[in-house]
This record gives sequence, structure tokens and C-alpha cells, in this order.
Amino acid sequence: MTQALSFLPRPRLQALIDALHAAGFRCIGPRVAEGVIAYDALEEAAQLPWGVSETQAPGHYRLGASDTQRCFAWANGPQALKPLLFAPRENLWRSRRAADGGLRFEETLPGSAPLAVIGVRPCDIAALALQDQHFLQQEVSDPYYARRRRDLFLVAVNCTHPAATCFCVSTGDGPRASEGYDIALTELADGYLLEAHSERGRDIAAALPLETAAEAHIAAADTALQQAAEAQQRRLPGTDLQAPLFANLNHPRWDEVAARCLSCGNCTSVCPTCFCYSEHDAPALDGGEVTHSREWDSCFTQGHSYIHGITIRAETAPRYRQWLTHKLGSWHAQYGRSGCVGCGRCLTWCPVGIDLTEEAAAICGEVAPP
Ligand code: SF4
Ligand code: SF4
Repeated sequence: MTQALSFLPRPRLQALIDALHAAGFRCIGPRVAEGVIAYDALEEAAQLPWGVSETQAPGHYRLGASDTQRCFAWANGPQALKPLLFAPRENLWRSRRAADGGLRFEETLPGSAPLAVIGVRPCDIAALALQDQHFLQQEVSDPYYARRRRDLFLVAVNCTHPAATCFCVSTGDGPRASEGYDIALTELADGYLLEAHSERGRDIAAALPLETAAEAHIAAADTALQQAAEAQQRRLPGTDLQAPLFANLNHPRWDEVAARCLSCGNCTSVCPTCFCYSEHDAPALDGGEVTHSREWDSCFTQGHSYIHGITIRAETAPRYRQWLTHKLGSWHAQYGRSGCVGCGRCLTWCPVGIDLTEEAAAICGEVAPP
């Protein structure tokens, strides 16, 4: 159940951080560092990216100055929620040789302190639901992910400034968050339209110096979100591309895109839904201890398709085909929807500017809705 919309005047934004701290949450939020906007510890509202804008295009990301005094007038940086829950590299367990010669196994679960993330975009909330499906809603859930996920509080920010690379409208995941968050903000000229969506969200909202939202605030938010949706120029050629992709496994476009692709795996690293990982053992030199870890893998690495002495996808073309046919195709059979939430990161952070929407359209053509 959602509560009636409220309004938080801009000078009172600090109250939200203070209320989350008072409730025992460590806060992180978007901050400018090393030329990008990424999550970092947030103590003061003043640390948010006030007056910052961004320009994104395939293979291009630059920060600039915005002509407004807003702190969410940009779309997304390279970092999604993924690394906060599915760590890029972590130890899973350790085994030790005991005095009696036997082995002792010890799980190395991460600590779990309640964490509030401020400024999560709707596409990343949709991606989180997909990662939840993969890591938590299987026969065996992942205890490492579960430990970090348990006390996560999400303050969503609806997108009023999509980047040129965004296409969340065509995947149905934005620009307005619809579920999976605790509080949602829409940034307006003088403050934030605020909606509490969960019991915890309502508790935090009750501690804030809120005003009743005026009709003008609600209309301004609706208009801004409508304009944001209409501003998106990119889209996927259909919502379910499983059949057309698998009908075109020998399309010449796979070789054309492979001639440009560097097989670097940047796209899978920044993708908020990619979940592949590899596992490794690191034995101590004296043989007394072994640490078992996992780290993000990618369908673009040699090792990803290494089975029984051979690399099945030794060339770039089948690797790119694996990425696209899984992400936009067989994900439907696996998880009931596409694995793409339209965040555009794989376009922006591809060093050669490969555009997944363009490749999908070239291979599938226009696909009629189901
Ligand atoms: S495939 Fe690309 S656009 Fe889609 S969710 Fe992943 S990074 Fe975002
Ligand atoms: S599509 Fe781009 S980002 Fe992905 S592996 Fe190829 S070159 Fe790297």
C-alpha cells in the first residue's frame, strides 16, 4: 500500500538522511568522483551532485554543469546496485588442515549492517528484482547475496533526465519506479514529491518535515516523467526477442559486430542484471589452508565456455551471440522476462560504442508485440 503523496522542500532534504541514520542505516548515495557519478558514503545532502549534468552516447560519458540547482538531474553512472549485493570478488569459504590431519571448512559470510541507498533509478530497481530472482528465488538461495540484501532500504529517484542511451520505456522499467522500493522521490524545481511504498518507508516518512503535496507538484512531476519518457530515442525492436534471435543464429550480423567487439567484457561488468561468476581456489604455500573465492565472469572471457579441455566459444562472434541471445532471448524461458532493463550502460561503457538496440534490430527486424 502506498501513502498519499507528500512534498519535501529542497532545504529539508538533509532530514531524510538524518532520519535514516537515526533508524540505524548507513547511507550511501550518488557522488562525483573521478569523473563519474557513483555511490559512496553520504553524511550530508551537500555531498550529492548538485548542479551536475551528464552526456552519454555509445562509448561516451562526460559530466558537465546543469542549469538547474538540482542533485538528480542526470540518468545513471557506471555503477548499479549489483556490486553492493553481488560482490565483484569475495571469499566463499576457507579450509584448514587440522592437527589430526583432517580438513576443517569455514564459511566466510559477509557482515550485514542495515544499508540505505539514496538515488536508485527505476531501471536499477527492476534489475534488482531480476538479481533477487536469480540469487534468492531458486531451490538454493545464495547466502552471501541474501545477507547483504536483507537490510537494504531503497530510496528511488524517478528519472526526469534520461540519457541519450536510455531505453527503459521500451523494456517497461522506467522512467517511474512502480514497485520494489521503500520511498520514491521525484525531483521538482523547489523540492521532492515523496511517496512511501513500504512499512519501513512510511516509518521514515513519518519522521520527516513533510508538507501535503499540492496539485501543482503532482502535475509537475507527471509532466516531467511524461517528457522523460517521450525524450527516449532508443528502443528494443520488441519485448520478447527469443524466437527471432534463435531463428537467426547464423545471421551475418554476428560476424559484423564481432569485427568491432574487443571481447573486453565491459558491457557485462556494468550490466545490472549479469550474474555470471567463476570460482577459484588459492592454496597457501605451506598447504595448510585453501581460500575459495568467486569473482564476476563474463560471456566474453575464454574461461566462460571452457569445458573438458576446450573453449566452446573461442571466437568473439559466438561470445557476442551468447550475450545477446541470453540477455534478450533465453532469459524469458529462464526468468519470465528479458534480462535487459534498458539502462543503456552497455552502450555507454562499450569502448567501441556497440549499441545493443541497434544490433538487436539488425538481427531481429521489427518484432510484432505478442
Ligand atoms: S543489457 Fe545493457 S541496457 Fe540492458 S540492462 Fe544490461 S547494461 Fe543495461
Ligand atoms: S560489446 Fe563492447 S563492451 Fe562488450 S565486450 Fe564487446 S567491445 Fe567490450
